Amino acid sequence: MAKTQTPHIAILPSPGMGHLIPLVEFAKRFVNQHVFTATFVIPTADSPTKAQKSALDSLPSSIDYVFLPPVDLSDLPQDAKIETVISSTVARSLSFLRDTFKSLVAKTKLVAMVVDLFGTDAFDVAKEFNLSPYVFYPSTAMALSLFLHLMKLDSMVSCEYGDLPEVRIPGCIPINGNELLDPVQDRKNDAYKWVLHHAKRYRLADGIMVNSFLDMEGGALKVLQENEPGKPPVYPVGPLVTVDLSNKADGSDCLKWLDDQPHGSVLYVSFGSGGTLSSDQLNELAMGLEMSEERFLWVIRSPNDKVSNAAFFSAESQKDPFNFLPKGFLERTKGRGLVVPSWAPQAQVLSHGSTGGFLTHCGWNSTLESVAFGVPLIAWPLYAEQKMNAAMLTEDTRVALRLKPDDTGLICRDDIAKTVKGLMEGEEGKDVRNRMKDLKEAAAKALSQNGSSTNALSQVATKWRNHTPL
Ligand code: UDP
Repeated sequence: MAKTQTPHIAILPSPGMGHLIPLVEFAKRFVNQHVFTATFVIPTADSPTKAQKSALDSLPSSIDYVFLPPVDLSDLPQDAKIETVISSTVARSLSFLRDTFKSLVAKTKLVAMVVDLFGTDAFDVAKEFNLSPYVFYPSTAMALSLFLHLMKLDSMVSCEYGDLPEVRIPGCIPINGNELLDPVQDRKNDAYKWVLHHAKRYRLADGIMVNSFLDMEGGALKVLQENEPGKPPVYPVGPLVTVDLSNKADGSDCLKWLDDQPHGSVLYVSFGSGGTLSSDQLNELAMGLEMSEERFLWVIRSPNDKVSNAAFFSAESQKDPFNFLPKGFLERTKGRGLVVPSWAPQAQVLSHGSTGGFLTHCGWNSTLESVAFGVPLIAWPLYAEQKMNAAMLTEDTRVALRLKPDDTGLICRDDIAKTVKGLMEGEEGKDVRNRMKDLKEAAAKALSQNGSSTNALSQVATKWRNHTPL
């Protein structure tokens, strides 16, 4: 069979829906604007989930996908952190990746490989095939700035970062050391070693794309774009988010319910694809929502008293979450509150006119989706880099109100009720709503024909087009 001459790229998402979704959006936008084809090559440790398949099935015909055979992780400790599981999955998939690249180069003009934040081990295989290695960083410019600064921080600081009252990430507002992303909080843990390993290897990339834009994170992006020996060029290409509103089949009940609510009156409450609360915290949230007397649409997952990301790889509840609600809660909030288990069509919910606020775990996709639809936030960070996101969103970009835990680590019902009311009806809500409106417009401009993010993506396309493969 003759080899096609259209340039082709391989995209390697590391496990987790929060990583797959932005890469799917990136790929769609990229092939839509530039004449390229692409293949998603997906490392796995388990069978693909329904959510993964449905995201991949939304791809146009110029983008193919292949799941690599599952790797064996049975030797990892039971309490291995997510970053260790994800990085090990990629690192152990390299021979499968090599096989896939062999068959791809036989039929396509494969020029580049894009990995996301924990996929840098695949660079070695890309090199064997003379592919241009790129990182697509699906989170904030702030977190990327920390990644690129981490080796220096590691050599300068001897204590745990959580003991530092202030950490200055280049270009960003100062934050408390305990707000840095989870895997750097325990420097003896393998997860930290993995993050440091990837952070070092980012410098081997030919370029780094970041899912952010200048009006949202001007300070961090300015520093990231300064020339520095050994640092690859950084391209802000965001906000790339799911705006496909055509699939109304999943969760049509909650969309119908939203149709019947007044404009801008509903607070959407969701902790992303994997977030879970403890039983006490779930109870407090329910009581806080009830006391706020506001309308709400709550995506609920059964609680987990040990970790806050119990559903990261599945998005599904382990048990019926309704059993954990306070007695009589559903009856008392009937009509003004709707509780749905595990999953809602978030883009549709956020784009709906009845939605007026979003209580979020500050996952970056959720945040960007809210920006795309101009919905102001209440920040309730749980894990990963979410505390950094919350600090940036409340103190720097100022599009969110923040909930803070008390001395026992619990966010109390009174605080929840007050903040929810404040967002939906108070002066503080008006301020963040107005700023979010401006940010929504700036986001649309960045993605418009000659916008900053569109231009950055074109620069990448030109480089890939000019790359000579094997
Ligand atoms: N999502 C959704 N329905 C849900 C929960 C999440 O569609 O009920 C989508 C959401 O729109 C976003 C992604 O899952 O695109 C979650 O990514 P994010 O970065 O916000 O958080 P993570 O799940 O990685 O913690």
